[in-house]
Amino acid sequence: MTYDEGYIKYESVWAPGPPPAAAVAEELDRWRRELFALGLIGYDDEHEVGYGNISVHAGQPGQFFISGTQTGHLEVTDRSHYTLVTSCDIETNRVHCCGPVEASSEAMTHAAIYRVNLGIRAVVHVHSDELWNSARDVLPTTDPAVAYGTPAMAGEFRRLYIHGDLANVGIAVMAGHPGGLISIGGTLEQAATRILNLARRPTPARD
Ligand SMILES: [Zn+2]
Repeated sequence: MTYDEGYIKYESVWAPGPPPAAAVAEELDRWRRELFALGLIGYDDEHEVGYGNISVHAGQPGQFFISGTQTGHLEVTDRSHYTLVTSCDIETNRVHCCGPVEASSEAMTHAAIYRVNLGIRAVVHVHSDELWNSARDVLPTTDPAVAYGTPAMAGEFRRLYIHGDLANVGIAVMAGHPGGLISIGGTLEQAATRILNLARRPTPARD
C-alpha cells in the first residue's frame, strides 16, 4: 500500500489556537472510533505513517474542523486532536488552520469537497486496499491521473457530484491515491455510516 499522508505536499499555515467545542470533538471522536476499529483510520506500522482523517463543517463557508496531523495511531481522540481550517487556497495549495494541532496533510482534499456543494457538511477520508480494489470503477471514481490535494482533484469531485453518482452514493474512490476513499454527508453520521456500511458488507466477487 502506498500512503501519501506522511508528506505534506502543500503549504500549511498553522496558528496555535483554542480547540473546538467539546461537543464537536466528541461527535468527531464518536465516529472516528468506529472507523479506527475497522482499520479505516489508523497507523501503518510497516510504513510508519498514520492514515485517514475526518472533518465536519464549522458553520462559516469554507471552514471545517479536521483531525490533526500525526493522530492516526490514536484509538481515542479529544479536543486537543482537532483543529479549525479557516481558509484554503486550492490554486496555490495553501491551507490556513487555527487550533491546538496542525491540520491533517489531507485538509486540502476535504476543502475541495466542501466547495462542491453547500449541502456537504462532513467528509471522511479512509484507507482500505480491500475497499479500494472492490469499489474502484464500481462506485464513483476519480481519474487515476489526478493526485489528491490538487486543483484537478477538486474538479474531479465536482464532476462526480454533478455528472456522476457521488451526490447519491456519497462515496468516491480516489483512483490516483492508492487505498484512498472518501465519503460525504449532510451530517457526520451520514458520512461515517456510508463508509462503515460499505466496509461491513460482504465483499462481492469481482470478475
Ligand atoms: Zn489518504
